Amino acid sequence: MTDGIIEGRNVSANLTLTPEFCIIGSGAAGGVCALKLAEAGFDVLVLEEGPNIPKDPVQDGNSHVRKMFTEREVDMYRTLYQEGGSRITKDGGIKVMQGRCLGGGTTVNWSACLPPRVETLEHWATLGLPFDRDSLRPYLKEVVNYLPIAANDKYNTSAQKFLDGCRNLGIEAINLPNNTHECRECGSCGVGCPYDRKMSGIIKWLPDALAKGARVYTDTKVDKLTMSGGSIREIQATFLDAKMRRLKVGLTVRPSIGVILAAGAIGTPAILLRSKITVNNRVGKLTHIHPVTICIGRYQDKTFPAYGVPDNMWSPKYGDGPTGYLMETGSFFPVLSASATLEHGDRLHQLMREYYPFGAIMYAHHTTGFNPKEEYGTVELDNYGDPELDYKLAGDNIKAMKESLRVMSEIHLEAGAMSVYHLRNPPLVVKSKADFAEIDRIKFEEPQRASVFTVHVMGGCQMGTNEKRAVVNPDFTLRGVPNLWVVDASIFPTGLGANPQVTIYALALWASKIICEKHGKPFALKYQQGGVWPWPKY
Ligand SMILES: Cc1cc2nc3c(=O)[nH]c(=O)nc-3n(C[C@H](O)[C@H](O)[C@H](O)COP(=O)(O)OP(=O)(O)OC[C@H]3O[C@@H](n4cnc5c(N)ncnc54)[C@H](O)[C@@H]3O)c2cc1C
Repeated sequence: MTDGIIEGRNVSANLTLTPEFCIIGSGAAGGVCALKLAEAGFDVLVLEEGPNIPKDPVQDGNSHVRKMFTEREVDMYRTLYQEGGSRITKDGGIKVMQGRCLGGGTTVNWSACLPPRVETLEHWATLGLPFDRDSLRPYLKEVVNYLPIAANDKYNTSAQKFLDGCRNLGIEAINLPNNTHECRECGSCGVGCPYDRKMSGIIKWLPDALAKGARVYTDTKVDKLTMSGGSIREIQATFLDAKMRRLKVGLTVRPSIGVILAAGAIGTPAILLRSKITVNNRVGKLTHIHPVTICIGRYQDKTFPAYGVPDNMWSPKYGDGPTGYLMETGSFFPVLSASATLEHGDRLHQLMREYYPFGAIMYAHHTTGFNPKEEYGTVELDNYGDPELDYKLAGDNIKAMKESLRVMSEIHLEAGAMSVYHLRNPPLVVKSKADFAEIDRIKFEEPQRASVFTVHVMGGCQMGTNEKRAVVNPDFTLRGVPNLWVVDASIFPTGLGANPQVTIYALALWASKIICEKHGKPFALKYQQGGVWPWPKY
């Protein structure tokens, strides 16, 4: 046991626990609910499949606060990510990156903080969701001020090139707020901040929840829920060892009030499907991602693109509409980028020597989920009961993906890039606008003809009032199961069209309020002053 967290890998006997609430998943949504329910006085138990990330007992000021975060990509993907960082869609076409550790995605994310897109909220309102920018404002403010979120204007070289190119082209490029605090610009957000400077769940929500009496079990994978009489009565989980293998012992939880599902937009549908809770076969359907297009500029001077704040510059210029996209700048994580090139051997070596020290990276998150004729993604179970995402890129998204690559290539060239590398198979290098026609020929519709990845997974347990479509009611309960609340990104009826962590936090606060009030407990928002408010009306 460390800091009130029990590591399942060290448990040697079967256990049974009877908290009031059991929260499954310790990521963005799980952390918020753990804090707010514990603060209200409930007996709260959090179960997390991934490992604990303890603080080192002795701190020497300058060194890593959590030595477990080695900053070595290869080790960290294996330790902190779902499927060791190699999760892909069923046809192998899209790499899907999700956290699998204490704090979930918040521990490994790139710290970009945007409010929800107004246009998306307006669409959701037509499906019966109760959120708009005004009603969400106190919850968003709470997130901004509690974490806090701030404008970090130390730009890495990718952001500088983006600024230069956008300026020359007259494209608006602005600061993207972050939840970093006194960032040391090591560039390692994606493999866990070793200095505790990113205000993730393991720094904020979860320690505060523990201080209020919540208990957390890590290395504890929930297998299924058992229903009787229309309510969830029991949760069955297995402890995992350090290599994520199942131990012979496990945990049975019998919550006296209810269960909160916060296992993420693939994990939550998977638990429901394993439990044979399918809500008219709707669970897992309409799962959304923001597919990401990437291109890497090759510059004359060394750029050292792996360092600096990864994601604090963006352009909303093309963000509107059902297939809008947000251009953002990133960190050129060498292992991740090398694997995304689809190259190997000598050619990969040469490419990395050329594009790694001299490169700058730009990418675009694409909005999906607004075309009623498209199915988008479906979470299914494989033969081992593990989830698999079957996802088809929609035609209108493919069109926008080609456009974003053309726009970003132009920004690179205007910023002085000698060439721009596209992660196509075979690779595509453009040197002038005359080469752009090739971008239009990229066959995104054929898996593995281009690298597409996503770090934003949403949907699969849609909230709404339409009986044929919705899985979750507007009060966050699962349809027909009043003691089961779903609070994570799986409730999104479409892709958000913005980096989702802030919206997930805000909606989890909203859900916590409903739960507290329903059970006669106090709920308070305590951080309503200051911060980067107001955000752009986006
Ligand atoms: C590399 C990366 C970069 C990102 N960058 C940004 C960014 O800059 N800005 C932004 O807004 N968003 C970013 N995101 C996305 C953001 O972090 C996620 O959208 C958010 O964390 C999702 O919250 P969630 O609560 O839905 O699920 P998660 O945060 O994914 O939490 C789910 C948790 O449940 C656990 N779990 C799953 N199944 C089980 C089970 N059966 N039993 C027990 N536990 C289980 C998982 O291990 C995980 O810890 C990024 C994500 C990644 C991966």
